[in-house]
Amino acid sequence: VQDLFKARTSKQRQVILDELKRVDSHPTADEVYLMVRQRMPRISLGTVYRNLEILAEQGLIQRLDGGPGRRRFDGRVEGHYHIRCLSCLRVADLPDLRVSVPEDEAAALTDFEVTGHALEFLGICPECRRQGLGAANHDAEASYGG
Ligand SMILES: [Zn+2]
Ligand SMILES: [Zn+2]
Repeated sequence: VQDLFKARTSKQRQVILDELKRVDSHPTADEVYLMVRQRMPRISLGTVYRNLEILAEQGLIQRLDGGPGRRRFDGRVEGHYHIRCLSCLRVADLPDLRVSVPEDEAAALTDFEVTGHALEFLGICPECRRQGLGAANHDAEASYGG
């Protein structure tokens, strides 16, 4: 029975990992649940949450924390930067961006052992801009009376 349980658990985790690696939309746990349910209709939301956390602990996926209820997951673990839309909160990859980060300087300034850095770009995505949801757009309408 123990083996059967273990087999089922690892199958579930594998499906979650597969589904996450298939997309580049950086889904929330709820969105991952909807994707996984297509393949495993009886899986529970709690199981998906738990396995996402385990996969993140194991370094097999990336956890992107964006404030309460904004946690998203990424099947890509190789270093890449993200850009977040402030209007719809979606996260996109910036795969080819190279940024030189002065980690030595950070270490010198703080006496920390610096092991890495987190950098996220913020803005308004193309879809939101098309719908006029950009912050700049609202300002323009207000000042010029539309
Ligand atoms: Zn957007
Ligand atoms: Zn990403």
